[in-house]
Amino acid sequence: MGPEPDVTGKLDEENILTLGKFKDILSKSGKPVKLLIMDQEKIGGVGNIYATDALWLAKVNPKTPANKLQRDKVTELYKAIHTVLKAGLKYGGASELAFVTPDGAEGEYQNHTLAYGQQGKLCSRCKKAKFEKYFLGGRGTYICPICQK
Ligand SMILES: [Zn+2]
Repeated sequence: MGPEPDVTGKLDEENILTLGKFKDILSKSGKPVKLLIMDQEKIGGVGNIYATDALWLAKVNPKTPANKLQRDKVTELYKAIHTVLKAGLKYGGASELAFVTPDGAEGEYQNHTLAYGQQGKLCSRCKKAKFEKYFLGGRGTYICPICQK
């Protein structure tokens, strides 16, 4: 398993996904960026719901080849991944993920998603386009066609 975004403060230093490691991992792959950040061998802990929301938050098209992402976008995406994972922790995680509340309850994050599951709804940021859904690598992917050109 690859390094993980440190949102709990409990990871050993060598397992933490630093911005430097994130840049390095992205620069070495021409895969669609969404599939790369969900590849547990490369980066741990980013499930489909969080990947979808982080890409919307950073205004990145999920199909962009990872090594073609602009530098400032790489940094934005790195921050966005941490933002959505922290929101996930706050809501006790999403059911598809490893984050489970101490009492074992399924998380509530899926009720607070930014883009995931929002097809047909107006984008809350640009308020000009509706979310579209398609499948990428077999997983449901939701984008705002304006924000994530
Ligand atoms: Zn939008």
